[in-house]
Amino acid sequence: MAEIELRQVEKRFGDLQAVKPMDLTVYDGEFIVLLGPSGCGKTTTLRMISGLEAVTGGHIFLDGRDVTWLHPSDRDIAFVFQLFALYPHMTARENIAFPLQAQGESQATINKRLDEVVALLRIHRILDERPGKLSGGDRQRVALARALVRRPKAFLMDEPLGALDAEFREAMRAEIKRLHIDQHATTVYVTHDQIEAMAMGDRIVVMSKAEIQQAGTPAEVYYDPANLFVANFIGSPGMNLVTGHYTANGTLRLPGENHYPVPESWQQALRKALGGQGDVVAGFRPEAARFGPDGALSGEVYASDLHGAHTMLHVNFDELDIVHIRADRMTSVVPTGDSVVPTDDYPIGTPVRFDIDPNMVRFFHPDTEAAIDREAGS
Ligand code: ATP
Repeated sequence: MAEIELRQVEKRFGDLQAVKPMDLTVYDGEFIVLLGPSGCGKTTTLRMISGLEAVTGGHIFLDGRDVTWLHPSDRDIAFVFQLFALYPHMTARENIAFPLQAQGESQATINKRLDEVVALLRIHRILDERPGKLSGGDRQRVALARALVRRPKAFLMDEPLGALDAEFREAMRAEIKRLHIDQHATTVYVTHDQIEAMAMGDRIVVMSKAEIQQAGTPAEVYYDPANLFVANFIGSPGMNLVTGHYTANGTLRLPGENHYPVPESWQQALRKALGGQGDVVAGFRPEAARFGPDGALSGEVYASDLHGAHTMLHVNFDELDIVHIRADRMTSVVPTGDSVVPTDDYPIGTPVRFDIDPNMVRFFHPDTEAAIDREAGS
């Protein structure tokens, strides 16, 4: 298998900078997801790695070898597209065998490799069908089998599940993940679906505006976003982001007359980052809120949606600032009184008091939008 390294790789289409100079190493056996909104440069990055798109700057290395100017077919990388074009007149078996036949492999080798991928993807029952007769999921399995059968050094996948309906997407997501665990093939996977990225990636490379915003494990980008873009883009809903004023006495004045006692572990970092005091953006995930009658923060239920195991409360501090709070069934309480009663029912206007788990609050600079480093204060 292979390590892919991008060094200052960039792409311009005339005046448009589709990908700004980018450094990225995809380690041997790693599953990397390129995640970002439409137009941020994910597909262009993938196409440059494959060789389908020429770089306008920088170098691409495959296992230490500079492949920047190699033809796609000489890179030993397999590309799986969203709408993989299978040959309609061939059966699934013939489609899968086709790349090996084109390489002039012997029939014995073809049969052996075919047996392997068929077992791996569990597609025995559809081998004699033509693509037109197959479901979307099965067509994508055949496409994957056709890519796998070549045993390439690395896989590039561009929204391979994008054309499937929700039920097939979930099943295929699990299959691709399992396939990766079994095969340990270096994979770069493009999606704009952050749930897919969180579920599949060893690391997620979050892109926006033609550049990498953060590269990290799913837990890193979720709990420690590098900036406001990542904080908001990752998570459904994204991180709650509320601008407040950090005062000299160490509290944060938030909308709606709320005063948040900033945890001790953040005091030094905030004083340093803000030069004593100043505006700052506080961020916390919906599940970081802790209900309780003595909670330091208060608001009113603006709306609530039941998600089965939990309820998402939309709580307003004031008319403008709404935060999303996850109320877990059986652990949450009727927020008004002192009594603790499990409930799913939060009528509009219910007053809510809560605290933020001190380990789960983050702070961002309002001008640079970058996360404030807690360690920098110590
Ligand atoms: P999507 O999820 O919509 O595919 P993406 O993140 O993959 O988006 P790219 O397809 O890489 O984004 O496109 C990045 C930018 O480059 C976009 O502004 C796009 O319009 C532009 N672009 C892509 N290919 C070309 C091309 N061949 N000629 C001119 N501009 C292009």
